[in-house]
Amino acid sequence: MTTFPSNTIGSPSSAASTRFDATVRRAVAEGLLSEEQPVAGFLDADGVRGSVTALHDAFAAVPGVRVLHTFAAKAASLVPVLRLLADCGMGCEVASPGELRLAVEAGFAPERIVLDSPAKTREELRTALALGVAVNADNFDELRRIEELRPAGSGSVVGLRINPQVGGGSIGAMSTATPTSKFGVALRDPGAREQVVRAFAERPWMTRLHAHVGSQGCPLELIAEGIAETYRLAEEINGAVGARQITSLDIGGGLPVNFADDEVRPSFSDYVAALRTAAPGLFDGRYDLVTEFGRSLLAKNGFIGARVEYTKDAGGTRIALTHAGAQIATRTVFMPEAWPLRVGAFDAEGRPRSGPAMVQDIAGPCCFAGDVVAHGRELPELREGDYVVLYDTGAYYFSTHWAYNSLPRPAVYGFAGGHGGDGDGDDVRFVPVRDAQSLDSVAEESGLGHAGALTGLGSATV
Ligand SMILES: *Cc1c(COP(=O)(O)O)cnc(C)c1O
Repeated sequence: MTTFPSNTIGSPSSAASTRFDATVRRAVAEGLLSEEQPVAGFLDADGVRGSVTALHDAFAAVPGVRVLHTFAAKAASLVPVLRLLADCGMGCEVASPGELRLAVEAGFAPERIVLDSPAKTREELRTALALGVAVNADNFDELRRIEELRPAGSGSVVGLRINPQVGGGSIGAMSTATPTSKFGVALRDPGAREQVVRAFAERPWMTRLHAHVGSQGCPLELIAEGIAETYRLAEEINGAVGARQITSLDIGGGLPVNFADDEVRPSFSDYVAALRTAAPGLFDGRYDLVTEFGRSLLAKNGFIGARVEYTKDAGGTRIALTHAGAQIATRTVFMPEAWPLRVGAFDAEGRPRSGPAMVQDIAGPCCFAGDVVAHGRELPELREGDYVVLYDTGAYYFSTHWAYNSLPRPAVYGFAGGHGGDGDGDDVRFVPVRDAQSLDSVAEESGLGHAGALTGLGSATV
Protein backbone atom coordinates (compact mmCIF):
# COMPACT_ATOMS: atom_id res chain seq x y z
CA MET A 1 0.00 0.00 0.00
CA THR A 2 1.23 3.48 -0.80
CA THR A 3 2.20 5.59 2.16
CA PHE A 4 1.36 9.25 1.96
CA PRO A 5 3.04 12.05 3.83
CA SER A 6 0.83 12.77 6.80
CA ASN A 7 0.64 16.41 5.86
CA THR A 8 2.34 19.13 3.92
CA ILE A 9 4.21 20.32 7.00
CA GLY A 10 7.60 21.61 6.05
CA SER A 11 6.87 21.65 2.32
CA PRO A 12 7.60 24.87 0.46
CA SER A 13 3.96 25.11 -0.67
CA SER A 14 5.06 27.15 -3.62
CA ALA A 15 4.22 25.02 -6.66
CA ALA A 16 2.41 27.41 -8.95
CA SER A 17 -1.13 26.77 -10.10
CA THR A 18 -2.55 27.94 -13.42
CA ARG A 19 -5.95 26.29 -13.02
CA PHE A 20 -7.76 29.50 -12.07
CA ASP A 21 -5.77 32.08 -14.05
CA ALA A 22 -8.60 32.85 -16.48
CA THR A 23 -11.08 33.09 -13.60
CA VAL A 24 -8.93 35.59 -11.72
CA ARG A 25 -8.60 37.67 -14.88
CA ARG A 26 -12.35 37.67 -15.39
CA ALA A 27 -13.12 38.42 -11.73
CA VAL A 28 -10.98 41.56 -11.92
CA ALA A 29 -12.49 42.55 -15.28
CA GLU A 30 -16.00 42.24 -13.82
CA GLY A 31 -15.09 44.19 -10.68
CA LEU A 32 -15.59 41.27 -8.29
CA LEU A 33 -12.09 42.06 -7.09
CA SER A 34 -11.41 45.78 -7.04
CA GLU A 35 -10.36 48.70 -4.88
CA GLU A 36 -13.92 48.79 -3.49
CA GLN A 37 -14.08 45.02 -2.96
CA PRO A 38 -10.52 44.06 -2.10
CA VAL A 39 -11.14 40.46 -1.02
CA ALA A 40 -13.54 37.71 -2.11
CA GLY A 41 -13.89 33.93 -2.17
CA PHE A 42 -14.46 31.89 -5.34
CA LEU A 43 -15.76 28.36 -5.79
CA ASP A 44 -15.56 26.23 -8.94
CA ALA A 45 -18.98 24.56 -9.30
CA ASP A 46 -17.84 22.11 -11.99
CA GLY A 47 -14.83 21.24 -9.85
CA VAL A 48 -17.11 20.46 -6.91
CA ARG A 49 -19.25 18.20 -9.10
CA GLY A 50 -16.08 16.46 -10.28
CA SER A 51 -14.88 15.84 -6.73
CA VAL A 52 -18.26 14.44 -5.69
CA THR A 53 -18.21 12.14 -8.73
CA ALA A 54 -14.72 10.93 -7.79
CA LEU A 55 -15.97 10.08 -4.30
CA HIS A 56 -19.04 8.24 -5.56
CA ASP A 57 -17.06 6.37 -8.22
CA ALA A 58 -14.41 5.24 -5.75
CA PHE A 59 -17.03 3.47 -3.60
CA ALA A 60 -19.17 2.35 -6.56
CA ALA A 61 -16.14 0.41 -7.80
CA VAL A 62 -16.83 -2.03 -4.95
CA PRO A 63 -19.93 -4.00 -5.93
CA GLY A 64 -22.72 -4.61 -3.45
CA VAL A 65 -22.02 -1.91 -0.88
CA ARG A 66 -24.57 0.81 -0.22
CA VAL A 67 -23.18 4.18 0.85
CA LEU A 68 -24.69 7.48 1.92
CA HIS A 69 -22.04 10.09 1.30
CA THR A 70 -22.67 13.15 3.47
CA PHE A 71 -20.87 16.47 3.29
CA ALA A 72 -19.54 17.87 6.58
CA ALA A 73 -21.36 21.23 6.62
CA LYS A 74 -18.71 22.97 8.70
CA ALA A 75 -16.29 22.75 5.78
CA ALA A 76 -18.42 25.15 3.69
CA SER A 77 -21.42 26.42 5.63
CA LEU A 78 -23.06 28.26 2.74
CA VAL A 79 -26.59 27.36 1.64
CA PRO A 80 -25.93 27.51 -2.14
CA VAL A 81 -22.89 25.24 -1.72
CA LEU A 82 -24.91 22.78 0.34
CA ARG A 83 -27.70 22.87 -2.25
CA LEU A 84 -25.19 22.13 -5.03
CA LEU A 85 -23.96 19.15 -3.02
CA ALA A 86 -27.53 17.94 -2.42
CA ASP A 87 -28.09 18.23 -6.16
CA CYS A 88 -24.99 16.07 -6.69
CA GLY A 89 -26.55 13.31 -4.58
CA MET A 90 -24.82 14.02 -1.27
CA GLY A 91 -26.33 13.94 2.22
CA CYS A 92 -25.20 16.34 4.95
CA GLU A 93 -23.38 15.95 8.26
CA VAL A 94 -24.21 18.73 10.73
CA ALA A 95 -22.80 19.57 14.13
CA SER A 96 -24.85 22.48 15.48
CA PRO A 97 -28.39 23.87 15.36
CA GLY A 98 -27.15 26.44 12.83
CA GLU A 99 -25.74 23.80 10.52
CA LEU A 100 -28.93 21.73 10.82
CA ARG A 101 -30.94 24.78 9.80
CA LEU A 102 -28.65 25.39 6.79
CA ALA A 103 -28.95 21.74 5.72
CA VAL A 104 -32.75 21.90 5.88
CA GLU A 105 -32.77 25.20 3.95
CA ALA A 106 -30.45 23.65 1.37
CA GLY A 107 -33.05 20.95 0.74
CA PHE A 108 -31.50 17.79 2.19
CA ALA A 109 -34.17 15.24 3.13
CA PRO A 110 -34.04 14.53 6.89
CA GLU A 111 -33.06 10.90 6.36
CA ARG A 112 -29.99 12.15 4.48
CA ILE A 113 -28.86 14.36 7.38
CA VAL A 114 -26.61 13.15 10.21
CA LEU A 115 -26.29 15.12 13.47
CA ASP A 116 -22.92 14.75 15.22
CA SER A 117 -22.44 17.74 17.52
CA PRO A 118 -20.43 16.96 20.64
CA ALA A 119 -22.61 19.00 23.04
CA LYS A 120 -26.20 18.51 21.88
CA THR A 121 -28.78 20.19 24.10
CA ARG A 122 -32.12 18.52 24.87
CA GLU A 123 -33.78 21.00 22.53
CA GLU A 124 -31.37 20.16 19.72
CA LEU A 125 -32.05 16.44 20.23
CA ARG A 126 -35.84 16.98 20.31
CA THR A 127 -35.69 18.89 17.03
CA ALA A 128 -33.51 16.29 15.33
CA LEU A 129 -35.61 13.35 16.52
CA ALA A 130 -38.83 15.08 15.46
CA LEU A 131 -37.39 15.74 12.00
CA GLY A 132 -36.15 12.16 11.62
CA VAL A 133 -32.53 13.19 11.25
CA ALA A 134 -29.94 10.51 12.09
CA VAL A 135 -28.27 11.18 15.44
CA ASN A 136 -24.91 9.89 16.61
CA ALA A 137 -24.69 10.03 20.41
CA ASP A 138 -21.33 11.20 21.68
CA ASN A 139 -21.45 9.51 25.08
CA PHE A 140 -23.60 7.38 27.38
CA ASP A 141 -25.26 10.35 29.10
CA GLU A 142 -26.39 11.63 25.75
CA LEU A 143 -27.68 8.18 24.87
CA ARG A 144 -29.86 8.29 28.01
CA ARG A 145 -31.22 11.69 26.94
CA ILE A 146 -32.05 10.32 23.50
CA GLU A 147 -33.81 7.38 25.13
CA GLU A 148 -35.98 9.78 27.15
CA LEU A 149 -36.75 12.14 24.28
CA ARG A 150 -37.17 9.71 21.40
CA PRO A 151 -40.79 9.76 20.22
CA ALA A 152 -42.42 6.36 19.65
CA GLY A 153 -41.85 5.27 16.07
CA SER A 154 -39.11 7.83 15.56
CA GLY A 155 -37.64 7.73 12.07
CA SER A 156 -34.21 8.75 13.31
CA VAL A 157 -31.38 6.27 12.96
CA VAL A 158 -29.52 6.39 16.27
CA GLY A 159 -25.85 5.57 16.54
CA LEU A 160 -23.03 5.83 19.06
CA ARG A 161 -19.74 7.55 18.36
CA ILE A 162 -16.71 5.71 19.56
CA ASN A 163 -13.12 6.83 19.79
CA PRO A 164 -10.98 3.88 18.69
CA GLN A 165 -7.96 5.59 20.33
CA VAL A 166 -5.65 4.56 17.52
CA GLY A 167 -3.59 7.72 17.93
CA GLY A 168 -3.15 11.12 16.35
CA GLY A 169 -1.69 12.65 13.23
CA SER A 170 0.66 15.57 12.74
CA ILE A 171 -1.82 18.26 13.81
CA GLY A 172 -3.03 17.75 17.36
CA ALA A 173 -6.13 19.89 16.95
CA MET A 174 -7.25 17.75 13.99
CA SER A 175 -6.69 14.37 15.67
CA THR A 176 -9.89 12.94 17.10
CA ALA A 177 -8.69 9.44 18.00
CA THR A 178 -6.00 10.17 20.55
CA PRO A 179 -6.36 8.51 23.97
CA THR A 180 -7.77 11.72 25.45
CA SER A 181 -9.78 13.14 22.54
CA LYS A 182 -13.03 14.82 23.60
CA PHE A 183 -15.08 12.91 21.01
CA GLY A 184 -17.03 9.70 21.44
CA VAL A 185 -16.71 6.82 23.90
CA ALA A 186 -13.03 6.09 24.56
CA LEU A 187 -13.09 2.45 23.50
CA ARG A 188 -9.82 1.26 25.05
CA ASP A 189 -10.50 2.72 28.48
CA PRO A 190 -11.07 0.03 31.13
CA GLY A 191 -14.58 -1.41 30.87
CA ALA A 192 -15.61 0.83 27.98
CA ARG A 193 -15.93 -1.88 25.36
CA GLU A 194 -18.18 -4.00 27.58
CA GLN A 195 -20.26 -0.93 28.41
CA VAL A 196 -20.74 -0.20 24.69
CA VAL A 197 -21.84 -3.77 23.99
CA ARG A 198 -24.29 -3.57 26.91
CA ALA A 199 -25.66 -0.20 25.74
CA PHE A 200 -26.56 -1.77 22.38
CA ALA A 201 -27.96 -4.93 23.94
CA GLU A 202 -30.29 -2.85 26.10
CA ARG A 203 -31.44 -0.66 23.21
CA PRO A 204 -32.41 -2.68 20.14
CA TRP A 205 -33.33 0.56 18.36
CA MET A 206 -29.67 1.59 18.23
CA THR A 207 -28.44 0.45 14.83
CA ARG A 208 -25.31 2.40 13.98
CA LEU A 209 -21.70 2.80 15.09
CA HIS A 210 -19.86 6.01 14.28
CA ALA A 211 -16.17 6.98 14.23
CA HIS A 212 -14.33 9.94 12.75
CA VAL A 213 -10.67 9.27 13.30
CA GLY A 214 -9.26 12.62 12.33
CA SER A 215 -8.85 15.21 9.66
CA GLN A 216 -5.92 17.00 8.05
CA GLY A 217 -2.61 15.53 9.16
CA CYS A 218 -3.88 12.01 9.79
CA PRO A 219 -2.30 9.35 7.56
CA LEU A 220 -4.63 7.12 5.61
CA GLU A 221 -3.41 4.02 7.44
CA LEU A 222 -4.35 5.54 10.79
CA ILE A 223 -7.83 6.42 9.56
CA ALA A 224 -8.23 2.92 8.12
CA GLU A 225 -7.09 1.33 11.38
CA GLY A 226 -9.66 3.32 13.35
CA ILE A 227 -12.42 2.29 10.97
CA ALA A 228 -11.30 -1.34 11.06
CA GLU A 229 -11.53 -1.21 14.84
CA THR A 230 -15.07 0.18 14.55
CA TYR A 231 -15.99 -2.63 12.16
CA ARG A 232 -14.64 -5.28 14.56
CA LEU A 233 -16.65 -3.75 17.39
CA ALA A 234 -19.83 -3.90 15.27
CA GLU A 235 -19.18 -7.58 14.60
CA GLU A 236 -18.65 -8.17 18.31
CA ILE A 237 -21.88 -6.36 19.25
CA ASN A 238 -23.95 -8.20 16.65
CA GLY A 239 -22.41 -11.46 17.84
CA ALA A 240 -23.22 -10.67 21.46
CA VAL A 241 -26.86 -9.75 20.81
CA GLY A 242 -27.26 -12.63 18.37
CA ALA A 243 -28.80 -10.46 15.65
CA ARG A 244 -27.84 -8.03 12.94
CA GLN A 245 -28.72 -5.08 15.15
CA ILE A 246 -26.02 -2.79 13.81
CA THR A 247 -26.94 -2.33 10.18
CA SER A 248 -24.82 0.68 9.29
CA LEU A 249 -21.39 2.11 10.01
CA ASP A 250 -20.71 5.82 9.81
CA ILE A 251 -17.00 5.93 9.02
CA GLY A 252 -16.53 9.72 9.19
CA GLY A 253 -14.45 11.89 6.91
CA GLY A 254 -11.04 13.43 7.20
CA LEU A 255 -9.20 12.51 4.01
CA PRO A 256 -6.14 14.81 4.14
CA VAL A 257 -5.68 17.39 1.39
CA ASN A 258 -2.41 18.08 -0.42
CA PHE A 259 -1.80 21.83 -0.09
CA ALA A 260 1.59 21.71 -1.86
CA ASP A 261 0.54 21.46 -5.51
CA ASP A 262 -2.44 20.82 -7.79
CA GLU A 263 -2.45 17.05 -7.48
CA VAL A 264 -5.28 15.38 -5.58
CA ARG A 265 -3.53 12.95 -3.25
CA PRO A 266 -4.45 10.80 -1.57
CA SER A 267 -7.47 10.17 -3.78
CA PHE A 268 -10.81 8.72 -2.72
CA SER A 269 -9.75 5.50 -4.50
CA ASP A 270 -6.62 5.38 -2.35
CA TYR A 271 -8.91 5.75 0.66
CA VAL A 272 -11.16 2.89 -0.43
CA ALA A 273 -8.12 0.71 -1.14
CA ALA A 274 -6.72 1.40 2.34
CA LEU A 275 -10.07 0.50 3.94
CA ARG A 276 -10.39 -2.71 1.95
CA THR A 277 -6.94 -3.76 3.11
CA ALA A 278 -7.60 -2.89 6.75
CA ALA A 279 -11.16 -4.23 6.97
CA PRO A 280 -12.20 -6.39 3.99
CA GLY A 281 -15.52 -7.31 5.65
CA LEU A 282 -16.57 -3.67 5.67
CA PHE A 283 -17.39 -3.88 1.98
CA ASP A 284 -19.17 -7.22 1.75
CA GLY A 285 -22.61 -5.60 1.78
CA ARG A 286 -23.68 -6.56 5.32
CA TYR A 287 -23.33 -2.99 6.52
CA ASP A 288 -24.59 0.16 4.88
CA LEU A 289 -21.94 2.84 5.05
CA VAL A 290 -22.09 6.57 5.74
CA THR A 291 -19.17 8.88 4.97
CA GLU A 292 -18.68 12.49 6.12
CA PHE A 293 -16.13 14.23 3.92
CA GLY A 294 -15.57 17.98 3.99
CA ARG A 295 -12.15 19.40 3.16
CA SER A 296 -11.25 16.77 0.55
CA LEU A 297 -14.35 17.61 -1.52
CA LEU A 298 -14.03 21.38 -1.48
CA ALA A 299 -10.52 22.64 -0.68
CA LYS A 300 -9.01 22.42 -4.16
CA ASN A 301 -12.14 23.82 -5.78
CA GLY A 302 -11.91 27.26 -4.23
CA PHE A 303 -9.57 30.21 -3.89
CA ILE A 304 -9.39 33.60 -2.23
CA GLY A 305 -8.46 36.71 -4.20
CA ALA A 306 -7.16 39.75 -2.31
CA ARG A 307 -5.85 43.15 -3.37
CA VAL A 308 -2.39 44.38 -2.44
CA GLU A 309 -3.05 47.72 -0.74
CA TYR A 310 0.58 48.68 -0.05
CA THR A 311 4.05 47.21 -0.09
CA LYS A 312 6.88 48.14 2.25
CA ASP A 313 10.25 47.06 3.55
CA ALA A 314 10.96 46.42 7.22
CA GLY A 315 14.27 45.21 8.60
CA GLY A 316 15.27 43.87 5.23
CA THR A 317 11.99 42.05 4.63
CA ARG A 318 9.61 42.97 1.82
CA ILE A 319 5.99 42.92 2.97
CA ALA A 320 2.86 43.05 0.85
CA LEU A 321 -0.09 44.38 2.87
CA THR A 322 -3.16 42.65 1.45
CA HIS A 323 -6.79 42.19 2.45
CA ALA A 324 -6.50 38.47 3.18
CA GLY A 325 -5.40 37.76 6.72
CA ALA A 326 -6.59 36.02 9.82
CA GLN A 327 -10.23 37.02 9.22
CA ILE A 328 -10.38 34.65 6.25
CA ALA A 329 -7.35 32.34 6.74
CA THR A 330 -7.47 31.96 10.50
CA ARG A 331 -5.78 28.58 10.86
CA THR A 332 -3.00 29.48 8.44
CA VAL A 333 -2.18 32.67 10.32
CA PHE A 334 -2.14 31.04 13.75
CA MET A 335 -0.54 27.73 12.73
CA PRO A 336 1.51 28.54 9.64
CA GLU A 337 3.53 25.30 9.75
CA ALA A 338 0.44 23.13 9.90
CA TRP A 339 -1.61 25.02 7.30
CA PRO A 340 0.69 26.46 4.63
CA LEU A 341 -1.10 27.87 1.58
CA ARG A 342 0.20 28.39 -1.92
CA VAL A 343 0.11 32.01 -3.01
CA GLY A 344 -0.16 33.30 -6.58
CA ALA A 345 0.82 36.81 -7.74
CA PHE A 346 -1.36 38.69 -10.23
CA ASP A 347 -1.14 42.20 -11.63
CA ALA A 348 -3.80 44.90 -11.39
CA GLU A 349 -5.60 43.43 -14.44
CA GLY A 350 -5.60 39.97 -12.92
CA ARG A 351 -2.88 38.56 -15.18
CA PRO A 352 -0.31 36.22 -13.62
CA ARG A 353 2.77 38.23 -12.72
CA SER A 354 6.03 37.00 -14.08
CA GLY A 355 9.52 38.27 -13.56
CA PRO A 356 12.29 37.52 -11.12
CA ALA A 357 11.22 36.12 -7.78
CA MET A 358 11.84 38.02 -4.60
CA VAL A 359 11.24 36.94 -1.04
CA GLN A 360 8.13 38.57 0.41
CA ASP A 361 5.82 38.27 3.38
CA ILE A 362 2.12 38.28 2.48
CA ALA A 363 0.38 40.07 5.32
CA GLY A 364 -3.29 40.66 6.09
CA PRO A 365 -5.37 43.61 7.26
CA CYS A 366 -5.77 42.65 10.94
CA CYS A 367 -4.22 44.74 13.69
CA PHE A 368 -1.83 42.24 15.22
CA ALA A 369 1.73 41.56 14.18
CA GLY A 370 1.23 37.88 13.46
CA ASP A 371 -1.36 38.54 10.75
CA VAL A 372 0.77 37.09 7.94
CA VAL A 373 -0.64 34.39 5.63
CA ALA A 374 2.70 33.47 4.05
CA HIS A 375 6.20 34.10 5.37
CA GLY A 376 9.28 34.59 3.19
CA ARG A 377 7.63 33.42 -0.01
CA GLU A 378 9.43 33.71 -3.34
CA LEU A 379 7.08 35.48 -5.75
CA PRO A 380 7.39 38.04 -8.53
CA GLU A 381 7.56 41.47 -6.92
CA LEU A 382 4.10 42.57 -5.85
CA ARG A 383 3.00 46.20 -6.24
CA GLU A 384 0.13 48.33 -5.01
CA GLY A 385 -3.05 47.39 -6.84
CA ASP A 386 -1.91 43.83 -7.59
CA TYR A 387 -3.79 40.77 -6.40
CA VAL A 388 -2.71 37.70 -4.51
CA VAL A 389 -4.54 34.39 -4.77
CA LEU A 390 -4.62 31.91 -1.91
CA TYR A 391 -5.16 28.44 -3.40
CA ASP A 392 -6.90 25.39 -1.98
CA THR A 393 -9.16 27.53 0.20
CA GLY A 394 -12.55 26.13 -0.86
CA ALA A 395 -13.10 24.52 2.56
CA TYR A 396 -12.89 26.15 6.00
CA TYR A 397 -11.50 29.47 4.70
CA PHE A 398 -13.83 32.02 3.08
CA SER A 399 -16.84 30.16 4.45
CA THR A 400 -15.46 30.32 8.00
CA HIS A 401 -14.93 34.01 8.65
CA TRP A 402 -13.52 35.31 11.92
CA ALA A 403 -14.92 38.68 12.97
CA TYR A 404 -11.63 40.14 14.30
CA ASN A 405 -11.26 43.93 13.92
CA SER A 406 -14.92 44.09 12.84
CA LEU A 407 -13.77 43.19 9.35
CA PRO A 408 -16.83 42.35 7.23
CA ARG A 409 -17.44 38.89 5.83
CA PRO A 410 -16.24 38.97 2.22
CA ALA A 411 -18.40 38.12 -0.77
CA VAL A 412 -18.27 34.59 -2.16
CA TYR A 413 -18.88 33.77 -5.84
CA GLY A 414 -19.46 30.50 -7.57
CA PHE A 415 -18.24 30.12 -11.11
CA ALA A 416 -18.21 27.79 -14.08
CA GLY A 417 -15.98 27.73 -17.14
CA GLY A 418 -12.54 29.26 -17.44
CA HIS A 419 -10.82 26.31 -19.07
CA GLY A 420 -11.19 27.19 -22.73
CA GLY A 421 -10.61 30.19 -24.99
CA ASP A 422 -7.54 32.39 -24.99
CA GLY A 423 -7.16 32.56 -21.23
CA ASP A 424 -8.89 35.86 -20.65
CA GLY A 425 -11.87 34.12 -19.12
CA ASP A 426 -14.56 35.12 -21.62
CA ASP A 427 -16.34 31.85 -20.90
CA VAL A 428 -16.36 32.24 -17.09
CA ARG A 429 -19.76 32.82 -15.51
CA PHE A 430 -20.05 34.05 -11.92
CA VAL A 431 -23.00 33.85 -9.54
CA PRO A 432 -23.21 35.32 -6.04
CA VAL A 433 -23.06 32.72 -3.25
CA ARG A 434 -22.87 35.14 -0.33
CA ASP A 435 -23.00 38.94 -0.44
CA ALA A 436 -20.25 40.93 1.21
CA GLN A 437 -21.32 42.02 4.68
CA SER A 438 -22.36 45.66 4.87
CA LEU A 439 -21.12 48.03 7.56
CA ASP A 440 -24.76 48.35 8.71
CA SER A 441 -24.73 44.61 9.34
CA VAL A 442 -21.37 44.82 11.15
CA ALA A 443 -22.81 47.53 13.42
CA GLU A 444 -26.00 45.58 14.02
CA GLU A 445 -24.08 42.41 14.93
CA SER A 446 -22.01 44.53 17.30
CA GLY A 447 -24.92 45.47 19.55
CA LEU A 448 -26.07 48.63 17.79
CA GLY A 449 -29.64 47.85 18.87
CA HIS A 450 -28.52 48.03 22.50
CA ALA A 451 -26.24 51.05 22.07
CA GLY A 452 -27.37 52.76 25.27
CA ALA A 453 -27.68 49.63 27.39
CA LEU A 454 -24.58 50.10 29.55
CA THR A 455 -24.66 53.85 30.06
CA GLY A 456 -28.28 53.47 31.22
CA LEU A 457 -27.30 50.90 33.81
CA GLY A 458 -26.58 51.68 37.46
CA SER A 459 -25.81 55.03 39.03
CA ALA A 460 -25.34 57.43 36.14
CA THR A 461 -25.54 60.63 38.20
CA VAL A 462 -22.21 62.25 38.96
C1 LIG B 1 -15.11 17.85 10.69
C2 LIG B 1 -15.75 16.51 10.64
C3 LIG B 1 -15.81 15.81 9.44
C4 LIG B 1 -15.17 16.30 8.18
O1 LIG B 1 -13.79 16.38 8.26
P1 LIG B 1 -12.94 16.77 6.97
O2 LIG B 1 -11.54 16.73 7.43
O3 LIG B 1 -13.36 18.13 6.54
O4 LIG B 1 -13.24 15.75 5.92
C5 LIG B 1 -16.48 14.61 9.44
N1 LIG B 1 -17.06 14.11 10.55
C6 LIG B 1 -17.01 14.75 11.73
C7 LIG B 1 -17.68 14.18 12.90
C8 LIG B 1 -16.35 15.98 11.81
O5 LIG B 1 -16.28 16.61 12.99
